Amino acid sequence: MSEIRKVGVIGAGVMGAGIAAHVANAGTPAVLLDIVPADARDRSVIAKNALAKLEKARPAAFMTRSAARLVTPGNIEDDLGLLTDCDWIVEAVIERLDIKHAVYAKIDAHRKPGAIVSSNTSTIPVAMLTDGMGDAFAADFVVTHFFNPPRYMPLMELVTGPTTRPEVVEAITAFCDRRLGKGVVRCNDRPGFIGNRLGVFWGLTAVGAAFDLGLTVEEADAVMGSPVGIPKTGVFGMTDLVGLDLMPLVAKSLGDALEEDDPFQRLVRPLPLMKRMIAEGYTGRKGKGGFYRIDRAAGRRKEAIDLATGEYRPSVKPDIPVLMAARGDLRALLDDDSKFGRYAWRVLSDTLAYAATLVGDAAESVEAIDEAMRLGYNWRHGPFQLIDRIGVAALVERLQAEGRAAPALLLEADGRSFYRVEGGARQVLRCGDYAALPRPKDVLLLADVKLASKPVFTAEAASLWDIGDGVACFEITTPMNAIDRDVLASLDASLDRTGRDFRALVLYSDEPHFSVGANLRGMASALDDPAAVGEVVAYGQHVLTRMRDTSFPVVAGVAGMALGGGCEVVLHANAAQAHAECYMGLVEVGVGLVPAWGGCSEMLRRLGAARGMPRGPMPAAMKAFETISTAKVSSSAAEAMEMGFLRPTDGVTMNRNRLLADVKAKALALVADFAPVEPASYHLPGLSGETLMVSAAEGMARMGLASAHDVTICGKLAHILSGGGADPIELSDERRVMALEKTAFVALLQAPKTRERIAHMIETGKPLRN
Ligand code: NAD
Repeated sequence: MSEIRKVGVIGAGVMGAGIAAHVANAGTPAVLLDIVPADARDRSVIAKNALAKLEKARPAAFMTRSAARLVTPGNIEDDLGLLTDCDWIVEAVIERLDIKHAVYAKIDAHRKPGAIVSSNTSTIPVAMLTDGMGDAFAADFVVTHFFNPPRYMPLMELVTGPTTRPEVVEAITAFCDRRLGKGVVRCNDRPGFIGNRLGVFWGLTAVGAAFDLGLTVEEADAVMGSPVGIPKTGVFGMTDLVGLDLMPLVAKSLGDALEEDDPFQRLVRPLPLMKRMIAEGYTGRKGKGGFYRIDRAAGRRKEAIDLATGEYRPSVKPDIPVLMAARGDLRALLDDDSKFGRYAWRVLSDTLAYAATLVGDAAESVEAIDEAMRLGYNWRHGPFQLIDRIGVAALVERLQAEGRAAPALLLEADGRSFYRVEGGARQVLRCGDYAALPRPKDVLLLADVKLASKPVFTAEAASLWDIGDGVACFEITTPMNAIDRDVLASLDASLDRTGRDFRALVLYSDEPHFSVGANLRGMASALDDPAAVGEVVAYGQHVLTRMRDTSFPVVAGVAGMALGGGCEVVLHANAAQAHAECYMGLVEVGVGLVPAWGGCSEMLRRLGAARGMPRGPMPAAMKAFETISTAKVSSSAAEAMEMGFLRPTDGVTMNRNRLLADVKAKALALVADFAPVEPASYHLPGLSGETLMVSAAEGMARMGLASAHDVTICGKLAHILSGGGADPIELSDERRVMALEKTAFVALLQAPKTRERIAHMIETGKPLRN
């Protein structure tokens, strides 16, 4: 099977449109077809409207505006010819077998031989979907179950039929994993696959138990959220997000499809309050409100519904002593004799016992079930990892003590954990014995390196690891990878070490964010010592410039946020490999400061101030001013490239798990012909440019879009970016620009309004526009 180069999507609803957009995000052209509505003047209006809606979707469906141009809208009467050169055609029409069959007949008449056909169905088995469609169709058919929204949800469940060709599985897995960046989890052809089967079971159990045990929605979410490693929305917050109306529909369709003796059936029960809420339009965030709502009339007060009376009341932060006492100890929570402990035990014991019955039913392995729950529901730990945290023996013992049958899989485990580390490698319990935990080809995780080796260098704030082939990996280990003097000192030491013993250095951590920037708490504690602050600024400039100018390549592996000082680190790396979901920005203005670890200087270089300057000195300086003064953050790697934070030659990795392998490969590719960059000399616009930038900021203030303090900060920024009053004909050495950065930074730190901004950010995590 050759590579997938063009994709057809039938059904331009929530899922079909989202899948088409994400295919376009991967740079692959897509055709998006839907029905022709009766009496339509524009016969492709549904697909066209879907495309228009996608372009406005929040969170954004497209990674860049230009990606939208890769989707061609059409209709399934006039445009089936567009499918003839598609390598993969996804059906995402409404969940009705007769309609899906009619669509397949049309696809089959137009697809090229061997083109893959898949369904995005949530519930209908492959056997029913391919029934009557012929052998060739069945051989090319799979279920590709994406989660909503397709760009952001990393799970794709893949289900094959008995006659699906192996080449089809291989091609679709490769495309969805590497190009679309999804974690592809193989599931059996069973109702709800893994994610919906277990996720809905957990949801119904957690909602039902809250009613039964008399917990408030806030209490239930506080217990069944972070303490268990489940997103803090908990179960009621999640139901509001998904839609209350969907819950009974999905529960019914799963109940209908599953056997009568499946434990799922016990959960399908009427909840009169939910029925009433749905009937009255309280369907969650998309409706008038849900279990929670924001009362705009009362100054955006957050309210929660009282499960006993059905009335809204102001939301209260629950007081749950055991959560404080247990401090992340799951067993202590489950053993607690309060209603909170009993709630946690009831929901988890039911869910985990059910999960243990799904091996050999919904999926063939415990790790597939764990992966599906991590990727599809954002659980930090999969159910079998949770069982390990509780202890298999303890779980079995308590189930039996309560007269409940322990699932066979738990008995077979015979007290052993499902996962273990042996000889530096992860293993999983399979058929009574431990086997190596499989990783997809070319996936390199720092977590695995750490299990198998000791760090080359380690300190409080960072470590250096040997990731093989002469490449070292610098890992920041502070909370949210915030950067302080210790991190910089470790980087400095790592540069020495890499120069001695390695060929290249990568900057990377398995954490969700590359770095949220300089450690504000540390900075806040040094406010009254401007000399000390100046020293840290100068030291940062020294280390980052040194990193940029070393004799070996330094490549940043960027994922999630790279803000402020974190962004400056990336700007100084010789190259970057970014995860597609990467949010970069020089956001210092938000805390009343300016970039001062060489960020202004490097932006000038990126935006062309140091090149031949065919357009004169103003455009690059002005572009840098706009980007930094508005604290703009990219919404994707592709956008970071458009904004100049990444170079056109930097790489983008769609699958987060493949980032480290790709960064390493990029670093190795640079080794042979590596030459460090020359320190920059800039041609900057001087005083006239500075005046222009300042008047732009004053204009924003007149329109009420900037405060007086913003104008002050912008003035300092304009001074740096225009060369600090330097004659426009003269070239400014980068050292001069960095000296200006430092002076401005130290001065701004003394401003009371900057201090207020910093204090507010530390307290709330949000910028203050004072
Ligand atoms: P939707 O109702 O938003 O969209 C369905 C689209 O199919 C509509 O635009 C409709 O006009 C179109 N359609 C109907 N008949 C058609 C036909 N004969 N030819 C072409 N188009 C036709 O539905 P959705 O939520 O996008 O669901 C689509 C599929 O994805 C379903 O199988 C559903 O079970 C599955 N799914 C949905 C979700 C979800 O969260 N919504 C998640 C995973 C899977």
